[in-house]
Amino acid sequence: MPPERITVVGAGIVGAAVADRLSALGADVTVIDPAIGQGITALCPGGVRHQWSNRETAELVARSLPFFEGVSELDPGLHFDRCGYLFVTHRAEGVQALSELVEQQRALGIPAELLDGPQAKKLVPRLRSSVVAASYGPSDGFVSDPIRLSQALIQRARSRGTRWLPQQVTSIQLRGEAVCGVELAGGAQLPCDQLVVAAGHSNQELLGQVGVQLPLRREERRLHYLKRTPPGFCRPLVASLEQRWAGKQLGGAFYHSYLGTPVGSEDFLELSRQRGAAVLDGLEDLEHDRVVQGQYSSTPDHQAIVDRVGPSGLTVCAGLSGHGLMIAPAVAELVSQLLSGGASPLLQALSLQRFAAPAARDERAVI
Ligand SMILES: Cc1cc2nc3c(=O)[nH]c(=O)nc-3n(C[C@H](O)[C@H](O)[C@H](O)COP(=O)(O)OP(=O)(O)OC[C@H]3O[C@@H](n4cnc5c(N)ncnc54)[C@H](O)[C@@H]3O)c2cc1C
Repeated sequence: MPPERITVVGAGIVGAAVADRLSALGADVTVIDPAIGQGITALCPGGVRHQWSNRETAELVARSLPFFEGVSELDPGLHFDRCGYLFVTHRAEGVQALSELVEQQRALGIPAELLDGPQAKKLVPRLRSSVVAASYGPSDGFVSDPIRLSQALIQRARSRGTRWLPQQVTSIQLRGEAVCGVELAGGAQLPCDQLVVAAGHSNQELLGQVGVQLPLRREERRLHYLKRTPPGFCRPLVASLEQRWAGKQLGGAFYHSYLGTPVGSEDFLELSRQRGAAVLDGLEDLEHDRVVQGQYSSTPDHQAIVDRVGPSGLTVCAGLSGHGLMIAPAVAELVSQLLSGGASPLLQALSLQRFAAPAARDERAVI
């Protein structure tokens, strides 16, 4: 890495992974965030899956997976459970679509399998017999505790000399056409040579100050947590794109969500229950616990933006949609490439510039 002072704004999972990566390369790093892992990351239950519809997302997850598989080495209190993800269909027409998706995924090197109804039911005995087929990703899984994971990454970066300032950045400072620092709440100024902005929902506002417009929108997401879930109730994450529903057991809890057009909170609970009951038997016996409400920060094609933008010295990681945790290690690697002047087809695919062309390809497997 060039001997420069690098400031990272944001210590969610993305900023934390970037700080960890840059510190491992010997960079001089300062991370600024009032609290670690308390933004969108705090709402994330920890899903890490390979089964995506396009090459870029699949590659980002493939590059990140070894990190998650070794996460207990970072912190023995963290673990990765290879529980698998099961996407089910209840319709004969859905089988063809699933089969094409599995074929496409296998061509990308994703170890997805097409199961018929009885095979899927063997894996998840509570599946309704209306399920006629499923695609199964045995290497998909869940990492425990994304907040603790962010903290562990910052902790490791700090052990290598990275500084963490528990402060709010109020503005980006420029000298001519280059970034030269940030101003903090309270007026203090912190000079830097390179600024990496990984500020979740604040990316748009911070970059807007220096004339960079990011095509981001917020997408509502709620998770309904149920409690007193018996052991072995349902091991994989189960999703039905037809029912617009997904659910997953996490220890004694089960969270599930109606994924259709946003509705009021009462309707959300009702639809989650109703749609879930059409997929899994026994959900009606679990007790209501709480609803977690948040928003994805999404781009028009549901693919992240990882790019050098606007004035020189400014890099952004934005629009991580519903998969920011699972690709954070790869995003961090790409940021280190960008700061070293690197370029690659993957970086090209994640550039802000891609939205200038009309044919940006939507990621279809967002849940
Ligand atoms: C309900 C829900 C479920 C999800 N499930 C999954 C999942 O299973 N798997 C998955 O991979 N992804 C999932 N996601 C998406 C994932 O959580 C996000 O993509 C990811 O956490 C984004 O991380 P981030 O670091 O970019 O943003 P954040 O976690 O929001 O971090 C940004 C940080 O920047 C800080 N910040 C902002 N402005 C400033 C400022 N001016 N000065 C200093 N600091 C600032 C904030 O305090 C915050 O800590 C889910 C998201 C939601 C909402």
